[in-house]
Amino acid sequence: MTRAGIGYDIHRLENGETLILGGVTIPSPRGTVGHSDADALIHAIIDALLGAASAGDIGEHFPPSDPEYRGIASRELLRRVLHIIREQGWEIGNIDSVVILQEPRLQSHRYEMRRIIAEDLCIGIDRISVKAKTKEGLDAAGQMRAVEAHAIALLDKSGDDDRRQPHEEDTVWV
Ligand code: MG
Repeated sequence: MTRAGIGYDIHRLENGETLILGGVTIPSPRGTVGHSDADALIHAIIDALLGAASAGDIGEHFPPSDPEYRGIASRELLRRVLHIIREQGWEIGNIDSVVILQEPRLQSHRYEMRRIIAEDLCIGIDRISVKAKTKEGLDAAGQMRAVEAHAIALLDKSGDDDRRQPHEEDTVWV
């Protein structure tokens, strides 16, 4: 059986902060502000993976209120999410994503982002797509006040999908 999941994230940009997207440090006068390393692309991918597995969301697994996650590399969270979905028997089919940032242009960093994400998820780079868009100068992302990311993930699991209702003993994230 196959399941699709969607993920979205946004982080504020401020002068003098570091900009990390897809695990790549991007040279930029403005960087992201957030509780972890604020990697919006990896956060969106995490939510897509968890969503496809019906396994909650990033805030549920890694609460911002927990000091363990202060400044943590999002790649570490991604690897933990791989463990969560694999425990449920899921394999990753593919991930597609879009990063929305006005500047700098991300085209030259896309391959390295894909390589890093594929490495952390233990799959081939051909299963990871990263696309980059600007926002034509419109709204917060267009005015360099924010970076946004969207992602979709497909997960596969062998066996029949019997479409039964969850039983009481099933683990159900709500
Ligand atoms: Mg985030």
